[in-house]
Amino acid sequence: MNFRAPRGTHDILPKESGQWQFVEQKFSELCRRFSYQEIRTPVFEQTELFARGVGDGTDIVQKEMYNFEDKAGRAMTLRPEGTAGVVRSYIEHGLASEPSPIKLFYNITAFRYEKMQKGRYREFRQLGCECFGSKSASADAELITLLWLFFSELRMKDIHLEVNSIGCPLCRPAYKEALTEYLRPHLSKLCEDCRRRFATNPLRVLDCKEESCRKIAQDAPKSLEHLCPECLAHWEGLLSLLDTFAIPYNINPKIVRGLDYYSKTVFEFISENVGTQGTICGGGRYDGLVEELGGPATPGVGFALGVERLLLELEAQGFSFPEPVDPTIFIASFPEQRLLANQLAFSLRKEGLHAEVDICERSFKAQMKHANRIKAKYLLVLGDEEAKQMCGRIKRMADGAEKELSFSELASFLVNFEE
Ligand code: ATP
Ligand code: MG
Repeated sequence: MNFRAPRGTHDILPKESGQWQFVEQKFSELCRRFSYQEIRTPVFEQTELFARGVGDGTDIVQKEMYNFEDKAGRAMTLRPEGTAGVVRSYIEHGLASEPSPIKLFYNITAFRYEKMQKGRYREFRQLGCECFGSKSASADAELITLLWLFFSELRMKDIHLEVNSIGCPLCRPAYKEALTEYLRPHLSKLCEDCRRRFATNPLRVLDCKEESCRKIAQDAPKSLEHLCPECLAHWEGLLSLLDTFAIPYNINPKIVRGLDYYSKTVFEFISENVGTQGTICGGGRYDGLVEELGGPATPGVGFALGVERLLLELEAQGFSFPEPVDPTIFIASFPEQRLLANQLAFSLRKEGLHAEVDICERSFKAQMKHANRIKAKYLLVLGDEEAKQMCGRIKRMADGAEKELSFSELASFLVNFEE
């Protein structure tokens, strides 16, 4: 029987994992600069958490969740996104009683039963941030600056920030009403999903990727024209902060985000190259979510970034990722000295060095070939004489230069050549 990875999943092989580590480290390092601390929550949660937290009317909850029943008959779901679990944890552990703001970041695997396409998988990875306890536009802007720095430091081109405000429970009903009235005559021309969305959450029609729906959305009324004074002040505050930071943006009335819990600010970072899967990152404010999930009323804002899409984009832009680091030394030996070679490698590793040694019982000649193949920087050959004297000549592979060293000096000499 031939096993294959399940449809929509993918392996990250050693030749790619360095790119993942690079991006993940860059992100966590950037989070550190902004005082965002890592949170790790379970891969699965009660189904109800996502139904309530993501929104019953969303595509995610309606069509995309991996649901299962555990042995005790409880309804569980593999997380389709990170926010609901983080909010659940924030409430459960009483983080609301700690001084605001609480700034959290995550690095997760998420699961959605979707139609496979480039940049769209059933198991994928997200990096994200959530900030609790500030209703100020400064919190929204701070997250955007974090992302902007992240993309700039990755030297990403052709990526732009699209922003919008979808108002709050005070002003959105009137806007929804206006939108519904506009959409009603076009109902028969909307796609099947949007006909359903029309009844549950018409804002999401604006977000649809179908050409016919996009055309209709073109002339739809804009949420920005229906903001209440508080939402308007927040929106203007955000734009003036972005101007102050000199972060370029487009105001895009069609950005509404797919999830029910957003309020006020919504934004996306979109790449020009990846096509309809061009949204690398989406985020926004969710002032009602903590309360919705049973916590104290707490404003929040956050984003999630798709790592597969980011890497596709970086690759398309020819980004040069750091190469894996080659071993500092390879210790080759004749059969009688095999044990000594292994001991010596272990002692160098104890000193923190990257040392390699044969563990396949290769012939001496094959070991030399292997040392070249793995591009070890130095080579040490152990024979009878070296074993007796406990010293040897190490050879710099790049130019053949040799140096006589006792084994006890080896580690301190090599430390200078570690990257
Ligand atoms: P889309 O509109 O492309 O379906 P979304 O609105 O469902 O995206 P979010 O829930 O906002 O996406 O998730 C944030 C980010 O996670 C997306 O911008 C994208 O980069 C990534 N993402 C979402 N779904 C997938 C998926 N199935 N495969 C890979 N990445 C994904
Ligand atoms: Mg989606």
